[in-house]
Amino acid sequence: MSDYSNPIFHDEAKAREWLEARLWPQGAICPHCGVVGEATQMQGDAHRAGLWNCNACRKQFSVTVGTLYERSHVPLNKWLGATYLMMASKKGMSALQISRMIGVTYKTAWFMCHRIRESLRGNDGDMPLGGEGMVVEADETYVGGKDKNRHANKRMPERGGAASKEPVVALVERGGRVRTNGYTRQ
Ligand SMILES: [Zn+2]
Repeated sequence: MSDYSNPIFHDEAKAREWLEARLWPQGAICPHCGVVGEATQMQGDAHRAGLWNCNACRKQFSVTVGTLYERSHVPLNKWLGATYLMMASKKGMSALQISRMIGVTYKTAWFMCHRIRESLRGNDGDMPLGGEGMVVEADETYVGGKDKNRHANKRMPERGGAASKEPVVALVERGGRVRTNGYTRQ
């Protein structure tokens, strides 16, 4: 569990940058119109951190749209931390343990664990998250090594790769707003 010290679990800005790099390797993807790399990050204190403005459709979005982390007041780094801890622990972690480790109330931790588990269950095809046509995918990514964005290209919970690296799981909706292949310009 040594990689829980990774800054993405403790710094909200770093968590967001990590998720953006992970989900948007070709540039920010507008969840409203699907255009890739045509959005401008909103600057200044007047805007919520991590907010992007699409130059094509003029709508705003952030990287968590379409992921299980969206519409939550819990900072993204805590979400990534909870996800990581749940995935990295062989025995599984209780909401109480999660609440202590990431510093949220038990009630919040319970809600987070529930949402993360629901997402994982969707990965088996039993209970897709996100509604019609949505599939939730658990992507394993190794953090803490030189190649921090390397895609392990396999499903959890098996873990491989170098022993010095620990996986963190990014859960995203596939076939939906975030991971659809073949975006077309409108
Ligand atoms: Zn757009």
